[in-house]
This record gives sequence, C-alpha cells and structure tokens, in this order.
Amino acid sequence: MPAFAEARVDLDVISANVAALRERAPNSHFMGVVKADGYGHGMIPAARAMLAGGATWLGVAFIEEALEVRRAGIDTPLLAWIVPPGAPIGAAIEAGVELGISDPWVLDATVAAARAAGRPARVHLKADTGLNRGGITREGWPEVVEAAARAEAAGVLQVTGVFSHLARADEPADPGARDSVQAQLDAFDEALALADKAGLRPEVRHIANSAALLTRPDSHFDLVRPGIAAYGLSPMPDLRDIGVRPAMTLAARVALVKRVPAGSGVSYGHRYVTDRETTLALVPLGYADGVPRAASNIGPAALGGRRHVIAGTVCMDQFVLDVGNDPVEAGDEVVLFGDGENGVPTAQDWAEALGTIPYEIVTRVGVRVPRTYR
Ligand code: PLP
Repeated sequence: MPAFAEARVDLDVISANVAALRERAPNSHFMGVVKADGYGHGMIPAARAMLAGGATWLGVAFIEEALEVRRAGIDTPLLAWIVPPGAPIGAAIEAGVELGISDPWVLDATVAAARAAGRPARVHLKADTGLNRGGITREGWPEVVEAAARAEAAGVLQVTGVFSHLARADEPADPGARDSVQAQLDAFDEALALADKAGLRPEVRHIANSAALLTRPDSHFDLVRPGIAAYGLSPMPDLRDIGVRPAMTLAARVALVKRVPAGSGVSYGHRYVTDRETTLALVPLGYADGVPRAASNIGPAALGGRRHVIAGTVCMDQFVLDVGNDPVEAGDEVVLFGDGENGVPTAQDWAEALGTIPYEIVTRVGVRVPRTYR
C-alpha cells in the first residue's frame, strides 16, 4: 500500500460482475457506464475491465469523458448523454462519439456541427418518459423525431438509438414505484412508435439502469445501461444481494497511536469523549479524501478484523478510531469499506449509516487517494 491510503480496485471483479449481469439480459447489448471516473474506480481501467467482461458499449455523461476514453485507444461504441451549451460537439463527431439528444436545441447544434465536420453525427434521441430531468418532452417529441428524420434523409445525422431513463426502478417492492416504472415503459413504447412512424430505425432502444436490469426484464430492449451493479454495489437498499461483488476497497494505514485517560475529548469540538482509559488510532483520511464530515461518530471502519466507529469529528485529512484495548500500532491497515468479509464494512453499510446511496460513497473518494489495481 502507498504511504497513507489507497483505493484498491479489483478489475477482475468488475469483469466478473459484468459477465454475471450479462446473463440477466442475454439478448441485449451491455453498455457499461463509466462516467464520473468510473464511479470513482478509474474510468479507463474500469472501461477495459467492463469490455473484458463482455460489455459491448460504454456510456458516459460528458463529451470530455468520452474523448478521454477515445484518447486511451478504446474504439468501442460510446455514448455521451449530457450535452450542455458550449460542449465540444464537433470533436465528439470526429471521434465517433455518439451523442444523447435531450433537447431540441441539442439536435440543432449537432446538425450544425455535423455539417461543419462534413460527416454525419450518430445520435440517440432521449425521450423524457417521466423522470422530468433530461430528455425531450412528450409534447416536443413528434417535432424532434420529424426533424431528426429530415436530417437523416439529408445525410447529416444517423439516429442510432432512442433511449430514456427511469425514476423509480430502485424501489421494486413499492407498488407506487412499480406503477411509475410501468408508466414510463408505456410512455417509452409510445415514443418508439412515433419514432418508427417518422421513419427512424434505431439500432438500439434502451432504458434499463442497474435496478431495471435486475428487476424488470421487460425493460431490457436492445441494450441495458448499468453502472453501479458492475462495480459490485446494489442500487436497491432492500435488495443487497444481487450476485456481484464490490470492486473497491478503501484502506489506510494507522498514522499514530496514543493512550488517553477516561474523559478525553477527541477531535474538533470534542464531540466524542472517551468513557474509559483507551487507545486512539489516527487514520490519515479525511473529508478532502471523500470521508464525509457527516460520518463523524457514525462511519464504520475495520481494524484487525474488528469493526469500530469513527470517534468524533472527521477532519480534512484525518479521523480517529477509539479501539479500546485492542492491540494496534502505526502502520496497521484500517479498511473503511470493501467486500464485506471479515468484519469489513461495505460502501452500502456506509450509505446506510449516512442516509445516502453507495454511488455517493464511491464517487467521492478524493483525487489525493491513489487508485491501485489488481
Ligand atoms: N443511464 C443514465 C442516463 C444514467 O445517468 C446512469 C447513472 O446515473 C445510468 C444509466 C446508470 O445507472 P446505475 O448506476 O443506477 O445503473
């Protein structure tokens, strides 16, 4: 391990997760989602691991991320779905990056960029089927599919995909959420029918994220688009066991150890006070490294196979564990989260403790923490 801490990523685990997930949707393409630095795991290594596991597409949020994938020499079909004003659309077209069209102005800008580039842009039209985030509204959809069909006929556009995104796929036990997914799938069918009527014949229709891949076979269409499950974490708090393993372990080395008497206030604000003579271990990871300050007195960590809870306030670069009379010395390994075995918490445990989702736990691991791979 490097001197103070590391995020260890097991790339074989990512590949195995993808292979296992593919079996759930054997007739669909698999777009591995590697945005946000591969959910904190490292975008390029994660992309390669997903491809090794059988992914046939890659997906990112921004064109800049897609261009980084291309610069790494990866020429797989690749979709970037957020195109804000000023985005380098021309560079995306040159690099063979397919673009999500979430609004009529993005279509206009993409057609203009394709004309300037002298080659057609490959695009996926995004229907807003009820998430009310990105995507073309039901009212705007007929006009957009017609305009896209005209641009296709003019040779400046190829509509390779039509897609949407679900709002409540991660609550499969909730009848209201199931109704919401069904309503979105119905709206998606309607959007697809209108696209077809306009003469569009997309190669891939897609709507399923990890949760839908796992719980709604009727959402798989031609391509599934999972992220979190490929990294070994469940998007569903009530359905943790989804047949994958967490790929990332966040570990640090104890920096120093001290014995203190009962009644010692620990860390900023003395929000933890020892109730007996005890040993404190200083762990050199803080909120700058992605350990949320909200984890003060809450966040779990394992030391020598035993679980402890962070004692007092998480600082920018460090926090303290109260390990009682457990033997500990500087240099010992502390694991914040990992595969859940031998007392090690998971990112899911962290999410539960902090009232958040595991996505936030893994994506926020800071740039100061080296990623190491095996
Ligand atoms: N598709 C889109 C459009 C997304 O924004 C995301 C992630 O937020 C995903 C797919 C992957 O979702 P998940 O990580 O829940 O599988």
